[in-house]
Amino acid sequence: MVRYADIMSDSIVDGPGIRVVAFLQGCPRICEGCHNPSLLPIEGGIEVTENELAKMLLKKLTAKHAGLSFSGGDPLMQPEALYKVISFIRNRRPDVNIWLYSGYTFEEVKDLPVMSLIDVLVDGPFILKEKDISLVFKGSRNQRIIDVPNSLATGQIAEILTKKYAANI
Ligand code: SF4
Repeated sequence: MVRYADIMSDSIVDGPGIRVVAFLQGCPRICEGCHNPSLLPIEGGIEVTENELAKMLLKKLTAKHAGLSFSGGDPLMQPEALYKVISFIRNRRPDVNIWLYSGYTFEEVKDLPVMSLIDVLVDGPFILKEKDISLVFKGSRNQRIIDVPNSLATGQIAEILTKKYAANI
């Protein structure tokens, strides 16, 4: 089972292009200035099977979408469930570009099985004193936008320059 709070069909701030975004319920942190405080208790949200959530997301993905993003809350509070959701999606849409937002750092989560299924991790908690509204696809300067397949293959963190993405929007 997986707990989610909401699904958005037309986000332009959670990765490049128009994206479907799944907001998963629950986060172990309480960052000052958290953008989604109602998503922090793991008891909240809606509980469905992993396959049900995957099917809902696949149904929303159309030709106009550049990809799918998982946000929250912190999706990695439910790592096994997230693995099942993304596995289901990857089996049917291996081409879909998948971003994951998490308060954990890449170093903390790189060995989780779900990491082998995603394209990009935006890592680290939101830190209010590092907030910068000029940043693209992230809220605070400590957060990194990481090319996950490249980073896992080389063992070196490969950060993505957001200016490249912003220029394409
Ligand atoms: S990691 Fe994100 S969702 Fe969790 S408390 Fe911090 S800002 Fe809120």
